[in-house]
Formats: sequence, C-alpha cells, structure tokens
Amino acid sequence: MMNTITTINELKKLRATLSAENKKVGFVPTMGALHAGHVSLFQKSVSENDVTIVSVYVNKTQFNDPADYENYPRDINKDIALLQNNGVGILFLPTYEEIYADNYNYRITENTLSKILCGNSRKGHFEGVLTVVLKLLNIVSPSKAYFGEKDYQQYLLIKNMSKAFFLDAKITKCPTVREHDGLALSSRNLLLTIEERKTAPNFYKILRLEKNIMEAKAKLEKLGFVIDYIEDFEQRRFGAVYLGKVRLIDNVQL
Ligand code: AMP
Repeated sequence: MMNTITTINELKKLRATLSAENKKVGFVPTMGALHAGHVSLFQKSVSENDVTIVSVYVNKTQFNDPADYENYPRDINKDIALLQNNGVGILFLPTYEEIYADNYNYRITENTLSKILCGNSRKGHFEGVLTVVLKLLNIVSPSKAYFGEKDYQQYLLIKNMSKAFFLDAKITKCPTVREHDGLALSSRNLLLTIEERKTAPNFYKILRLEKNIMEAKAKLEKLGFVIDYIEDFEQRRFGAVYLGKVRLIDNVQL
C-alpha cells in the first residue's frame, strides 16, 4: 500500500525510519497530471532504490502566468492509482503553506543559464523551480533524484545547483518519452484542441530534421505555431512554441 503524506514533519519522521533501516530512497518531484513520461522516472527509481517517494505539487512560484497556473491540469485520483500501480511507496502531497511557510521570502537565484532559453521568456520561472526543488530535496533527502530530459534546461540547472550547494542526492536524467507520432508527453498536451493535437507532432519533427533555424521557424509558423524561441546550446537544439494558448517545449541532441 502506498503511504500518502501531506506534512513535512510526518515525511521527515518516516524518512528517519528509512535511514535507520538503511534503505536507499529514490525521489521523483512532479506537478501531477501524470503520464507515461513520469512513469518512466518512477520505474527507474523503483528499479534503483528500496523505496520511491514521489511528490505531486503544482508549484505556484514557477508560473510566470497566473492563468497558466489556474489552467494547469490536475487529477489527483488518477495520479494516485497510477502511482500505486507502479510501485511508488510514498506520495508527498504538500500545500503551499507547508512548502512556503516563509511566503517565498527566501529564493534560489542562478545568474547565467536560468536567464536564457525558457528563462528569457518566463521571468522568475527557474527561480521558482530551483527554490522548490531545493526545499523538496531537503525534506526528502533522497539518495537519487530523477529528472526528465524533456526539461533539459531544468535538469542542467538542478544538477549545477546540487553541485553548488554540496547536496548529497545524485541528480539523474531520464530520456524523453514520446507519443507514437513523436510529440513529447506533457501534462499540458491535455489542453490541446483536437486540431492542435494533430499539428503538434510537427514541432519535434521540424526541430529534429530541419538543420537551419530560420527555415525551421518559417516551417513551424506556416503550420500555425507561434515561436517563442529556437536556439542551439551546448550541442542541443532547444525550442518553445505556442499552439493556441498551449506552450510546448522540446529539445534534441545535435
Ligand atoms: P512535471 O510534472 O512536468 O513538472 O515533470 C516532472 C518530471 O517529469 C520532470 O523531471 C520532467 O522533466 C519529467 N518529464 C515530464 N515529461 C516527460 C517526458 N515526456 N519524458 C520524460 N520525462 C518527462
């Protein structure tokens, strides 16, 4: 049976018991509306640790757009069933008050990588991400924590933060899980209309196949995408686009 915990106190107590039993703890932070991309992280953690802890927490401080926060898909009952079916031992389900008892007065700021790509168009986004991840890592204190390559910039920032602050958890990356048509799985895909969903796979296809960035942008625009950015960084091509109101991100190795 999975144990669902809502308070930091309770989780820390349980964590101390696991330490006393010498258990290896894997941790996967998520914002819920779980899909097969998340499941691949749970499975990796379950295979590499004695106990897997998953947090489901829609972190308000990382949303630069209040409407995006309001509309973010939430389905906790479905999430719980999926976690139980995948061998997750503990679900951490905190409230804003629990995580931000300081009302977000203290924050983690990074000054270079967090300012480009997604950080350039989503002001304050990575500050919110790094702050919540540091808090969660301190609460859970895992041996390993798992992150998806789908959010590659986020993975790099978390890995560098963990080095900068001498964290013990090993930050592990997992490959992007895609639909059969190539679209990267994302909770936000649920918000696409039927028409948008049909167009969406062209994002990955063009990102992967069109070598020239200007050409790629032109092709995407012709299909109805609105470009946020497409840029190369450290042997990878990163992109963010809008289809209607939905923002999609992806990245491929060059
Ligand atoms: P989220 O719930 O979107 O914050 O994602 C939680 C974790 O799952 C992050 O580390 C994401 O990078 C990862 N993730 C999300 N979508 C995918 C995917 N399609 N493939 C692999 N990992 C993913």
